[in-house]
Amino acid sequence: MSSKPLYKRVLLKASGEALMGDQGFGIDVAVADRIASDIAEARAMGVEVGVVVGGGNIFRGVAVASKGGDRVTGDHMGMLATVINALALATSLRKLDIDTVVLSAIAMPEICESFSQRATLSHLAQGRVVIFAGGTGNPFFTTDSAAALRAAEIGAEAIFKGTQVDGIYSADPKKDPTATRFDELTHSEVLGKGLAVMDIAAVALARENHIPIIVFSIHEKGGFAAILTGGGRKTIVHDK
Ligand code: UDP
Repeated sequence: MSSKPLYKRVLLKASGEALMGDQGFGIDVAVADRIASDIAEARAMGVEVGVVVGGGNIFRGVAVASKGGDRVTGDHMGMLATVINALALATSLRKLDIDTVVLSAIAMPEICESFSQRATLSHLAQGRVVIFAGGTGNPFFTTDSAAALRAAEIGAEAIFKGTQVDGIYSADPKKDPTATRFDELTHSEVLGKGLAVMDIAAVALARENHIPIIVFSIHEKGGFAAILTGGGRKTIVHDK
């Protein structure tokens, strides 16, 4: 494999589910360590990496709303969950001596820095991995939307959406054996076909800013690096 990357700066979206492994809840440190090693490979190639982490392995706002509680409070709880995951992933990266900073959309200065575009660009230029915590900082959004937003703000050349499977399929490949994987799609095709890969707001924001979305399996060791150098199994969503 050639180790020359096709990208200089990328945004990786890792869902909370990805960090959970097979546990059903919380963080599997071995999985966080593995994802960190994939990010370390990208750094070794000189790729600048921003990471948006989800929180669904710990809490989702809809869980509160579905039981009659206040959705906004639930979403605040969900955003706090993303901070826990961000700290876990930062810990895994630092164990590998990868210079890492956590920037939160919600100020909590005793725990991590607050997000700003200027701070992010400075950290990236100094070779740090930047982990974005707290989603967008607003209820009624998701960390997918945060990924598209941060990617646009930092001028990322692509959003790498790590999922449980190696791309976008015509149907759920775990349920339908006839499901086929798309090699490439446009953002409009993803929206028009109703393909459940990222939420609509995230795909629309990526489309508006002409940012490709690369969907790949976060569980395949070395998969991230392989795609960064032009190989690997994935679906690319881009302008045609
Ligand atoms: N959340 C939010 N605003 C955001 C991002 C996240 O309110 O900008 C909340 C929301 O309640 C969501 C939870 O945080 O359910 C966890 O995020 P998400 O569901 O996107 O995590 P993932 O599915 O990627 O693990």
